[in-house]
Amino acid sequence: MGGHRAVFLDRDGTINEEVGYVNHLDRFYLLPRVGEAIHLLNRHRFKVVVVTNQSGVARGYFPESLIHQVHQKMMDHLKNQGAYLDGIYYCPHHPDVGEPPYRQQCHCRKPETGLIERAVQDLAIDCSKSYVIGDRGADVEFGRRIGSKSILVLTGYGKGEWEYFKGHWKSQPDFVAEDLYEAVQWILQQEGIGGMR
Ligand SMILES: [Mg+2]
Ligand SMILES: [Zn+2]
Repeated sequence: MGGHRAVFLDRDGTINEEVGYVNHLDRFYLLPRVGEAIHLLNRHRFKVVVVTNQSGVARGYFPESLIHQVHQKMMDHLKNQGAYLDGIYYCPHHPDVGEPPYRQQCHCRKPETGLIERAVQDLAIDCSKSYVIGDRGADVEFGRRIGSKSILVLTGYGKGEWEYFKGHWKSQPDFVAEDLYEAVQWILQQEGIGGMR
């Protein structure tokens, strides 16, 4: 039973500019070369799945409905660049801020693996053939926990995370990339597809 290979993408700081919290549609901007990068993954038949912590909901910074609007905008912009996502999964919780039900010790906030368990079922993914790309130590740790390779991007919080915190991480990334596009190039090389142009 060979499942699909997937690339799990963090959202803020990886796909779109890290602005603290995207608490309004107008604060969502795609980073450069993101459409091109995702298009390459689409073309080579990776499942492309966004996995994002959105604790701003639990913190009371924005309503959960905004997440859906932002994701629609993200998909529209990607579509304009010839790219698409196979799934988007988010965690709106926080363990100790806000009010229940959003305040809870959930199983879906990265680096916990609950969101992936849903994605793996929905899309028949084999994590051992898959990759995680994100800008934080939690994304790297998340990759280790699900048994995928992990790539840290230096966009978003990436540079600071790498410079000041890598010594504290339980696991190290398999690769450190300037941005999502470079991360995808590395994946294609690993897969023997050779994405260099
Ligand atoms: Mg991020
Ligand atoms: Zn959660």
